[in-house]
Amino acid sequence: MRITAAVSWPGLPEPRLEQLEQEEPRAGEMRVRIVAVGICHTDLHEHPGRHSPQPIVLGHEGAGVVEAVGAGVRGFAVGDHVILSGSSCGTCPSCLAGRPTYCDLAMPLSFGGKRLDGSTALSCDDGAIHSHFFGQSSFATHAIVPERTAVKVDKDVPLELLAPLGCGVITGAGAVIEALKVKAGDSIVVLGVGGVGLSAVMAARLVGAKHIVAVDLNRARLDLALELGATEAIAADTPDLAQAIRAVTGRGVTFSFNTTTVPAVHTVALECLAMNGTAGFVAAPRGEWAPAMFPMLAGGRQLRGILGGDANPRTFLPMLIAYWRQGRFPFDRLITPYTFDEIGRAFRDCEAGTVIKPVLKVSDL
Ligand SMILES: [Zn+2]
Ligand SMILES: [Zn+2]
Repeated sequence: MRITAAVSWPGLPEPRLEQLEQEEPRAGEMRVRIVAVGICHTDLHEHPGRHSPQPIVLGHEGAGVVEAVGAGVRGFAVGDHVILSGSSCGTCPSCLAGRPTYCDLAMPLSFGGKRLDGSTALSCDDGAIHSHFFGQSSFATHAIVPERTAVKVDKDVPLELLAPLGCGVITGAGAVIEALKVKAGDSIVVLGVGGVGLSAVMAARLVGAKHIVAVDLNRARLDLALELGATEAIAADTPDLAQAIRAVTGRGVTFSFNTTTVPAVHTVALECLAMNGTAGFVAAPRGEWAPAMFPMLAGGRQLRGILGGDANPRTFLPMLIAYWRQGRFPFDRLITPYTFDEIGRAFRDCEAGTVIKPVLKVSDL
């Protein structure tokens, strides 16, 4: 059927809205009418064609309504409201252990731009357009998604609020709750308080962390972090930042959570740790960087990569929604709404950091 989608072509400064032809869902897939989709930094990074082939429809924070189900889909019916999260195979050891973000096939399923059999769901008059980005390609009025990509949600929660849960919010909140397992009384510093970092701050408050230190260059973001649960805010350009963080507890923090790619911040994330502390990170340092190994040895400290918050979206997202209903996890505070045809402006605002979480409203409910 004919759909409208935002296509990333080589050389284009931003995705361009176009009419495309979309296949019907194959076995195990569903067609989801997208109501809203968040923009994540991974979309910005992939738009120029970094890991994924082009032309491609990006978008991996979709939320919408199931419109058609393919053969063999058991868990969903037409009319269900769904959040789309990552894609995974469902049968590898990581998937069986409930850790789908570490699926053996995560890279081809997320960035391959096609199904594992090499087919894509989209085409234009000139040929195939790559699809299935994170199992979604949800910068579109409709997405063909594998059943495992979707999480069913209650119909009374607005889908335009739920869109960012599938990547940015689960990445930050999952890191604190599932990966680092921060507990009441613990101390954590969050380095970089954008959408992922602020989700981590809210989660740290949720679990009762005693010290939640927010670090950023952006003063407005530090103020929002304080509103959302940070107990201390430190400007990232503070001289001897690691020492300033260590001074909050007098002996360093038990956890650091680094959302940045800045090599110097990765260094701070280790230097600010107390004995037996863990430095979690969600993005690799850009450029050359090597950790100082002796302090890691002498302090029993760890460096821990975290993808998708280590979380299983099927169980974790309904829990976050329950906390949101209780007023304890106000992730909607992060959202700035845009219309679908404002995608270019939303990309630029996201890149410039003037908004935290842009969400495109694609269709009415
Ligand atoms: Zn993302
Ligand atoms: Zn798997």
